[in-house]
Amino acid sequence: MLKKDYIPDKEPFVTIGIIMPEDQAKSITINMPSDTSGKYEIRIDDHEYPLNNNSVIEFILKGEITEVHFNKLIKTTNKTISVSPVSQKKELLPKSGLLVKNVISGRDFHWKKHLDVYLPDTVEISMIDNSLFLYNKLPLEHYLMCVATSEMNAACPDALIQSQTIVARSWLLAAVEQKHKDLGLDSCNDDCCQRYQGTTHLTKQSVKGSSETAGLVALYDNKICDTRYSKSCGGMTESFDTIWEKKKVPYLKVIPDYTEKQKGFNMPLSDETNFKKWVETVPDAFCSSHSVNEKDLIQYLGTVDENSKYFRWQQYVSQEDITENLNKHHHINAGSVIKITILERGGSGRIKYLSVSYSDKNGNEKQLILNKDFIIRQSLDKSFLYSSAFIVNPHYDNNEIPKGFMFTGAGWGHGVGYCQIGALGMALKGYSAEEIIKHYFPGSELKKIY
Ligand SMILES: [Zn+2]
Ligand SMILES: [Zn+2]
Repeated sequence: MLKKDYIPDKEPFVTIGIIMPEDQAKSITINMPSDTSGKYEIRIDDHEYPLNNNSVIEFILKGEITEVHFNKLIKTTNKTISVSPVSQKKELLPKSGLLVKNVISGRDFHWKKHLDVYLPDTVEISMIDNSLFLYNKLPLEHYLMCVATSEMNAACPDALIQSQTIVARSWLLAAVEQKHKDLGLDSCNDDCCQRYQGTTHLTKQSVKGSSETAGLVALYDNKICDTRYSKSCGGMTESFDTIWEKKKVPYLKVIPDYTEKQKGFNMPLSDETNFKKWVETVPDAFCSSHSVNEKDLIQYLGTVDENSKYFRWQQYVSQEDITENLNKHHHINAGSVIKITILERGGSGRIKYLSVSYSDKNGNEKQLILNKDFIIRQSLDKSFLYSSAFIVNPHYDNNEIPKGFMFTGAGWGHGVGYCQIGALGMALKGYSAEEIIKHYFPGSELKKIY
């Protein structure tokens, strides 16, 4: 595993979770590639068995025993089984490597899908908590070539792919989050860390993008920057402490995602009146339709996102749905939601605190305080709100109780650091990868570490 606050001087190997214990997989199927991409072997209980090209391996968990079916059947209670190349072409090719079926993308989000993914290098399978767990071990630069196109489509301009690769490399090497440390993973394959779909969408352009930036990271104060990113900031990035813990990270602060001063808007956006005007209009930002046409966005974005309304969006949630969702996530006994009040916003308008007034099933009026970006987005809509930078308008029938709530919001994701659509807007305007990185991480420098 990568270590925090350590700058490697040669390319490290990384371990990426693909089928996670929480996916509760009882069986896994892996298809061997055809002979063009090299030979593989499987290692079970300290024995190596050669694998035939185009063959299929099935792992089936039966209690404590994993059955491994290939050209023979082996039953094992051993914790780890590995499938690795005996010889391999150096260069990564699109759709090369092992084909793993039914991998979940968008875990816990409304864009959740099952995909078949091609994984380069070594795949290991182990048993954890009565489930099969599959992860990919590979050199960092191979991983990054794949991340660049899993996160965004390869039709993107060079400066975008280069900057995305530098950001993905720095984020992983900074190793600040390590959300799956207990599983020994540097990252998972999903939006919770960085979206990774192996060589499935790899293109020559993404290979070129990472080769051109190999070993290049963003540094601040001689440490690798925690280069967090999200899909769209909504025109203003958010500070680290609004979304996570009360700690100032100097290069993760509120910055306007544009260069020309915006006319007609008052700042800061933490002010309710200023934010209302901001969210109800489309300012000229790098991530707005002034820089990136929303019709064109689909050709640039990765394959998982199909809705192209990210910069400004609206979502209506009915009284029934919001009550049910709040009861589910907070174990309360709400009968109906009466009012939602914003208590405090951060500098991009993302909400730090809000209160939900509701009457419980006995008719008593109660209050629930929601205080984290993730919790706010998860609690108010069962399909997860795009961001916490929103205003709420209740809709009424002839009743005193609202029949539902209209959320009008800005951006997709936490909005801290690198804005992916904004970086696309900058690249389309001719900015270089270095200029893009320095815009989103003010005060940072680029350095080649290996
Ligand atoms: Zn993760
Ligand atoms: Zn932006």
